[in-house]
Amino acid sequence: RIAAVDGADDRGLNAFLAVDPEVSLGAAEAIDARRRAGEPLGELAGVPLAIKDVLVTTDFPSTAGSRILEGYRSPFDATAVARSRAAGLVPIGKTNMDEFAMGSSTENSAYGPTRNPWAPGRVPGGSGGGSAVAVGAFEAPLALGSDTGGSIRQPAALTGTVGAKPTYGGVSRYGAIALASSLDQIGPVARTVLDTALLHDVIAGHDHRDSTSLRHDWPSMAAAARAGAAGESLRGLRVGVVAQLSLEGAQDGVTARFDEALALLQAQGAEIVEIDAPHFEYAVAAYYLILPAEASSNLAKYDSVRFGLRVGPDGAANGTVEEVMSATREAGFGSEAKRRIILGTYALSAGYYDAYYGSAQKVRTLIQQDLAAAFERVDVIASPTAPTTAWELGSHHGDPLLDYLNDATTIPANLAGIPGLSVPVGTAVEDGLPVGLQLLAPAFEDARLYRAGAALE
Ligand code: GLN
Repeated sequence: RIAAVDGADDRGLNAFLAVDPEVSLGAAEAIDARRRAGEPLGELAGVPLAIKDVLVTTDFPSTAGSRILEGYRSPFDATAVARSRAAGLVPIGKTNMDEFAMGSSTENSAYGPTRNPWAPGRVPGGSGGGSAVAVGAFEAPLALGSDTGGSIRQPAALTGTVGAKPTYGGVSRYGAIALASSLDQIGPVARTVLDTALLHDVIAGHDHRDSTSLRHDWPSMAAAARAGAAGESLRGLRVGVVAQLSLEGAQDGVTARFDEALALLQAQGAEIVEIDAPHFEYAVAAYYLILPAEASSNLAKYDSVRFGLRVGPDGAANGTVEEVMSATREAGFGSEAKRRIILGTYALSAGYYDAYYGSAQKVRTLIQQDLAAAFERVDVIASPTAPTTAWELGSHHGDPLLDYLNDATTIPANLAGIPGLSVPVGTAVEDGLPVGLQLLAPAFEDARLYRAGAALE
């Protein structure tokens, strides 16, 4: 299937950056040997898994969509990958993404854009467009992604797949190439809520290698999804609709599907409650200061010495440390990475720190307080996952603000560390493209999302 649809040419989806049938076959045979030896493997044993290229793997290259990591091979597996292997999943390749997960369309990849299988002239969302398309185009039944500001949920919405951002700390970030460490979360992508939940169960849980990993006794997400799918009543479930997320400017077809989904929840016994989150309007501004600040620090390690690419000045093989570092970064980082490094170092610089980074952190606290107040009145919050369906490739070119504004609905969950789930709720009448419904819950309550999400399928 990958060979048939995934070429990097004009028509190919370009969801995968690396595949290696020999490696995958070897992994599958090893799992079969474990099964024959009587090892109890989980429900997902033998199922192929696509892995966003932000997670490092021993048997495939790991580039995070950047030239600067060209040729880099990790000596260890990310914890989410190691746990997937332990459960018997078969890694089948690494998926395309915006460089260092900076973007909302996968057009910022150094390796060409991924195309949306619903309309190959359109973007698949991002930054995890590759994982969403791999799943949506039947190239892989399951995939791993990362969500710093919506990079699992928004591409899921734009490709008609399901994606979950777990509670911050719920899944280990060990081996996830860092974008913004206080926002990054690893999570599952699949075609159904139950499949998403099954993969979530495999990768969740404490990891001593990640200092922010939670010690928590997680309930089974799959059990929650099964309860929701079994048609158990949603009676008593209070669903909040936040005025600031319901998006005056949203595309009509998105709003129409969202309203239908609310009616469906209501018909199953849920109660719809309007709530106010006065500080959400500042979320995009705060996020696009906090993220570049953290990213500029995380990306400082790409210094031409420790990882990947190494370029000398003016094509020379060597030069002074400073010359090589500068030439490597010039050649290795794309324009969005450079923009955010500059923005981040500026926001953190002496004299500006309080005005920019300090203010953004205060807004972050206010958004957390808005959500805490909301969750005293409701069990989950529902909104469209994104204000629009998939846009034309190239149509946001030169105007990064258009991408940033598309994140208004997904960003609050990352700023607050709470879990979110995007489920497909049909297509927009005007363009026939998929629409996603986002559900948010308080920290630790991921299972609630799977139960309500499965009730919508
Ligand atoms: N669109 C967001 C950004 O560009 C998504 C980031 C993410 O979740 N990795 O920052």
